[in-house]
This record gives sequence, structure tokens and C-alpha cells, in this order.
Amino acid sequence: MENKAYRGHVLALPYPGQGHINPLLQFSKRLVSKGLKATLATTIYIHNTMQPQSSSSLQFDTISDGYDEGGFAQAESIHAYLNRMETIGSKTLADLIIKNKNTANPIDCIIYDPFLPWALEVAKKFGIFGAAFFTQTCAVNFIYYNVHHGLLKLPITSTPISIPGLPVLELEDMPSFISVPGSYPAYFEMVLNQFSSSDKADAVLVNTFYELEPEAVDSMSKVCQLLPIGPTIPSFYLDKRLENDNDYGLNLFVSDSFICNNWLNTKPEGSVIYLSFGSLASLSNKQMEELAFALKGSKFHFLWVVKASEEAKLPEKFVEEIGNAGLVVQWCSQLEVLSNKAIGCFLTHCGWNSTLEALSLGVPMVGVPQWTDQTTTAKYVQDVWKVGVRAKVCENGIVEREEIEFCIKEVMEGKRGKDFKKNVKKWRELAIKAISEGGSSDKNIDEFVSKFVNS
Ligand code: UDP
Repeated sequence: MENKAYRGHVLALPYPGQGHINPLLQFSKRLVSKGLKATLATTIYIHNTMQPQSSSSLQFDTISDGYDEGGFAQAESIHAYLNRMETIGSKTLADLIIKNKNTANPIDCIIYDPFLPWALEVAKKFGIFGAAFFTQTCAVNFIYYNVHHGLLKLPITSTPISIPGLPVLELEDMPSFISVPGSYPAYFEMVLNQFSSSDKADAVLVNTFYELEPEAVDSMSKVCQLLPIGPTIPSFYLDKRLENDNDYGLNLFVSDSFICNNWLNTKPEGSVIYLSFGSLASLSNKQMEELAFALKGSKFHFLWVVKASEEAKLPEKFVEEIGNAGLVVQWCSQLEVLSNKAIGCFLTHCGWNSTLEALSLGVPMVGVPQWTDQTTTAKYVQDVWKVGVRAKVCENGIVEREEIEFCIKEVMEGKRGKDFKKNVKKWRELAIKAISEGGSSDKNIDEFVSKFVNS
């Protein structure tokens, strides 16, 4: 029998990518801990790949993006994918709502990724409370807000750029869809469209915490009711209030956890560089080569996540030649790795989840951003949060080996390295405080829940 004692039932709808599923999955777990039933709806393709297991209160269900066999890879173009997902996704989301209608726990609230703004229209059609959940930094969202509303005109013709609540930004600090006009028109449209209907949303959530971006949150709060509710990291690594919450539990790729842990456990404290470019980025052969030579030259141990699709780009015999100095894996449990004492620095693409994980676990960073919001986040890593350095890119778009080596040394053993460690420790403490009982994010989560439940 279904338990009727839940305070309400939320349906979380992430954009189908690892970096979007993780935060919405974690937020759903938080809501379960507040007495709600939660269902995370992924696409059929993602569901079949990840094979999630429902528990008594956290359920998994599906909608369709119209590409059930192969997901995004099956689509002819980004544009075609997004269009088909809107059409088929709207219909199958409606079906999911109807399926739950006459049960003990009909859906009371849809928390949707604003990359999928059509989900709000579906929620409204059924008279359901709709909450937008932004998965990037408040600063990045506010930049897109300004562009969407014509407050920041494109193309940008004069720099530096001033946006209230944000540090002064150069062109290279802007999200790539803005600094490189026309680079990905369909994605550019998508990030701006996040604001096409967000003013009609009943709540706006953002995966950050107030203390991390107070000025940006204050500025954006003047134009919409914003609730920072992060970091959405498994509770084990922060407040430890949620039982058995030590992993995201859903992976698009198979993790080599056992090998990583065994290898890391043989290395001295703070001696290993961890490198990952997340789930989506694809590096050029030249960039992979520069990284490989920098690692060899740096003389530090390293653990490098090279996805199967990127492996052929490694220099010939690289893996054999490094011996025990380095370990190359196709995927790992990043949280486990970042929390291992052996890690001294994270060379990251500055995806928002990875950055927030490093801040939350107290690991200083070398930022090597590739595209989208990563450039802006890298600016914050270096100049606002002061927890690492951002590698300089040459005219050919490559970060060269000397620069990578310099940045690694700076963080691992340079004079500034000590400050980065001190600063990141402070952010970790503030992250824990924000999500702990009575902290800023915890209070915002309670406020959010009170908007659609009766008791
Ligand atoms: N991740 C992981 N193992 C890896 C690499 C990444 O578990 O080997 C996770 C990481 O912890 C993060 C997510 O994948 O939660 C990547 O999200 P992010 O926003 O950093 O980057 P994206 O993949 O969206 O570019």
C-alpha cells in the first residue's frame, strides 16, 4: 500500500545530462528528508542507461525526449533534439501527471530545469505548483537574465562589463555563448529561454548558497524571488543528516572506484593532482597532448579521468610510460576522490557541479574552462573565491604545457597555494553551515516546501 502520510509529492525534471541530474536528484533526497515524496523523472534513454532503483520515498519514473534508443546522440542536431524533446516531453510529462492523479499521492509540485521551460506550461495546465531549478551559478544566471531582457546588449563592444552584483568582467570571463557569438546558437537560445517564463514560476531555486554569492543573489533577488538551496552534495560530505546519502547513485558511465581508492590510498597526503573535464567536454588532440606532457613534467602523482570517447587522443604509450606515477580511468566517484586525503589539487573544467564539489570538500583548483558557463565560474574560482588559478589560453585556443605545469605548481606548492587551501577550507565550513539545520539554504528549503504543502 502507498504511504499517504507524505506532506506532498514533488516531481523533479532534470535536463538529461549528468551535471543536471545530480543536483536535482540530491535536492529530491533533501525534500524526502523533509517528509515529502519525490519522483525524479529522467528520459527513457537515461533511465535505461542508469537503471535507478526506487526506494520507499524516492521514486524514479520516465518521460520521453523522442530518442528512446540513443538519447541526444541519436538526434540530427542540437536544435532537432531540443525541439523534439519539447513536443514529446510535454506530452509524456502530462501522461506522468495523469498517471499519478488518482493515486494516494498525486503530484503537488513540479521542479523543472529551466533548460526545459515548457515543463512549467504543462504544470500550469494541470494547476500544479511549478518551481524553476537553476543548475548554474547565480552570477551566470544573472548574466543570461540581463541579456534576455536587453539590459546587456550583444555583441559586446566595450569592456570591461559591469553587471550589478558581479565583479567587473572581461569578455573572456563571460559564458562562451556570449563571448563567442554564434558558437552554439541552439544552446544560446536555450540558456536565454530559461527566462522566457521563469517570472511565471511559483518559485525560483538555485544550486548555490547565499554566502558564496551574496552580491549576485541580492542583485538577482530584486528581479525575482530567488531561493539558494545548495550545495546539493550528498549529505555524508556536508551535514551528515541524511542517512545513507553518500553518493549520487546515478551514473551515465561505469566508475572505477575500487581501483581509484586503492591507488590513492598508497599516496602521501596532498600529493596527487586530480583531473577531470566532466561528462560532456571533448578536448582537442593537441590539448590532450599538452596536458599529458605537463603531467609528466610536473613530477606530481596524478589521477586523470579520460572518458572512453577521449582515450584515443592520449599520446601513444602514455599510460604505459607513466607507470605508478599516474592513474588514468574512464570515470570515478568524483566525491570519493575529492575527499581522499591524497588529493592536493583539482584540475577542472569548472563545470558548476565539479566546482561546487571542490569548494564543499575543500580542494583548491586549477581552472581550465572549455565552454558555456565554465569561463565565468573559473573567474570566480580565481578572483572571487580565491581558491585557485585559471590557466591562460594561447591565441590558438590551447592551454600549453608550460602554463599547465606553472598553474599546477602554483597550487600544489607555490606561495599562493597556502592561501588557496586556507580559503577553500573556509568555503567548505560555510557550505556545511548553509545546508545544516537552520543554515541559509536549509531555511530556504523549508520556505520553499511551505509554499505548496499545507502542514
Ligand atoms: N563526475 C563523476 N565522475 C567523474 C567525473 C565527473 O562522478 O569521473 C560527476 C561530478 O561529480 C559532477 C558531474 O559528474 O557531479 C559533472 O558535472 P559538472 O557540472 O561538473 O560538469 P558537466 O559534466 O555538466 O560538464
